[in-house]
Amino acid sequence: MVDDDDEEEISTTGHESPSELKRIDSIQFGLYEIDSWYWSPYLDDDQTTTKLYICEYCLRYFKYKKNYEQHTTNGCTRYQPPGRKIYEHPNGLSVFEVDGQTAQLYCQCLCLLAKLFLDRKTIYFDVEGFLFYVLAKLDDNKRNTYHLLGYFSKEKFSDEGYNLACLMVLPPHQRQGYGKFLIALSYELTRLEKKTGSPEKPLSNLGQIGYKSYFHSTILAKLKSYINSKMNITIGQLSEETGICIDDVVQSLIDLQISYTNLNNEQREEPHVKKKTIHKQRDDNNNISSFIIVDSDNVVNLSENNHEKNLFDANYLRLIGHRR
Ligand SMILES: [Zn+2]
Repeated sequence: MVDDDDEEEISTTGHESPSELKRIDSIQFGLYEIDSWYWSPYLDDDQTTTKLYICEYCLRYFKYKKNYEQHTTNGCTRYQPPGRKIYEHPNGLSVFEVDGQTAQLYCQCLCLLAKLFLDRKTIYFDVEGFLFYVLAKLDDNKRNTYHLLGYFSKEKFSDEGYNLACLMVLPPHQRQGYGKFLIALSYELTRLEKKTGSPEKPLSNLGQIGYKSYFHSTILAKLKSYINSKMNITIGQLSEETGICIDDVVQSLIDLQISYTNLNNEQREEPHVKKKTIHKQRDDNNNISSFIIVDSDNVVNLSENNHEKNLFDANYLRLIGHRR
């Protein structure tokens, strides 16, 4: 697998090392030379290299440029991620659902690549229990050729209700809305499964910022649509309709300062009735009634100030619900 030996297995002796032990300075990835941020178990402990060469299509990696060039000019037959294309937009953005069991090597290489840019990461090799949603963009000139932008992984079965294990957008493609695209896709899949979910913790700093932004814009948009149609909405409905778990919905409402919850105290609602919409939610598990008061004016103002673009459009999802 490494260098010129195609049969060599990926080293499984790698362990989490402090980032100061980073042994790869940069990678060549398609047209991009990208500085690495953190340690990743690409190499054995006694190996080091200033630059690793990675095929942008099959994700195989090479210590020597000569071997990489041989591979990319003659050896590689892949031109897009493996798996099923589950999203295809006319703007060229596509998502491939890759099963860690059937495309084990590709998914392992994807995890190794991701680790170069992620401080925390736990799986590299045990990928069978995960699905990988790979975001790629169609080449402007080459037919059926896709360039990797980022991905997220998801446990096939999560007892904890996690809907995302790990998310990475390659540095040259960051700050262009692709992280938010992947988060939005993860919640759309959760919604289609008629569940609610939350990402695996702890989140990186970048992850926290991305999720907070997504929660706020999604919840504001949903509240605004209910206010416009003069309907009430409960926390439970907000959670179900967005796929965002109740804890994250409540925390977002608190962060946004557009509402507060009021447990078992209906009287306190009265002074706030004017110009505001009262939403009631009963939690059937512990039989506590909670009320949410939403400041309608504030929701509309905040929504109007939210200009973040959302690249994800659920209308272009396909083949969902046809899994094995
Ligand atoms: Zn290749």
